[in-house]
Amino acid sequence: MSELRFDGKVAIVTGAGHGLGRSHALELGRRGAKVVVNDLGGALDGSGASTTPAAEVTELIAKEGGEAIADAHDVATPEGAQALVDAAIERFGRVDIVVNNAGILRDKSFGKMSVEEFDAVLAVHVRGSYLVSRAAWPHMKEQGYGRVLMTSSPAGLFGNFGQANYSTAKMGLVGLAKTLGIEGAKNGIKANAIAPIAWTRMTESLLPAEFESKFTPERVTALVTYLVHESCETSGEVFSVGGGRVARVFVAEGPGFRQDDLTPEAVRDNWDAILAETPYLTPTTLGQQAGASMKAML
Ligand code: NAD
Repeated sequence: MSELRFDGKVAIVTGAGHGLGRSHALELGRRGAKVVVNDLGGALDGSGASTTPAAEVTELIAKEGGEAIADAHDVATPEGAQALVDAAIERFGRVDIVVNNAGILRDKSFGKMSVEEFDAVLAVHVRGSYLVSRAAWPHMKEQGYGRVLMTSSPAGLFGNFGQANYSTAKMGLVGLAKTLGIEGAKNGIKANAIAPIAWTRMTESLLPAEFESKFTPERVTALVTYLVHESCETSGEVFSVGGGRVARVFVAEGPGFRQDDLTPEAVRDNWDAILAETPYLTPTTLGQQAGASMKAML
């Protein structure tokens, strides 16, 4: 089987100073991509900044014979995201891959979460992913090629106590990946999302100690590497990944219940049919979903 190579490709990995992003950047560098290693270098809650993490990963890539530049811009600001993409263009002449991975946590139960804590988390995950993808988009469109990856989370897909801000952001990224997948199709741009689990500074205090050797970032990077490769034709999908297991996560709609003169009582009396999961549909566009509803009327 041939190795997946990235020679001639330029990849931006955000939040690549630690954890998952570091692993993605190192692997893409090993496989021949020119990498822009972005990291603001702050703490887990987003406070502070340092150029050291991005510089260290950049040095490591160079030591392994790869090519990389460090970037310490804040992806949550339009200026920072633009400067990051400009740095890739200035140094390497193009941008083929954007791995949106930067993230922070401000966990609190919903009743105790401040507006500032809510906004700060959405700013890095949603705005950051939007802003970097937006800055890279015209370059990808012009060259008729691009790969965009969003880092979602099981917390967003399924909910998690204490993470109202984070789960809102992470489900938002699923919508962004799906729409970019649709809008990018005519220009050769694919967009997907992952919902990972890995032992990093973000999870080390939450996961059991035995997870460290099994839920390695590298086991997430294997999927990311394939999803951003030119041979991957998939777009608009979400995958859960961790500990060596990969699975498609899909948004499905059950068979449903329909009645012309639908009343609240009919809803109540047919609740089991409304909750039924099979046979389900997995629409890949709003049009497909609406089409299914219309078909049911005929
Ligand atoms: P991490 O804290 O090790 O890495 C996140 C990196 O993002 C840090 O290096 C941080 O400096 C950087 N960063 C934060 N804000 C930034 C900003 N504004 N601009 C640029 N860089 C910024 O955590 P991780 O576990 O490697 O997380 C990576 C991504 O994976 C995050 O989006 C996280 O939400 C997601 N995720 C992780 C897990 C897991 O199990 N580790 C699970 C689900 C989702």
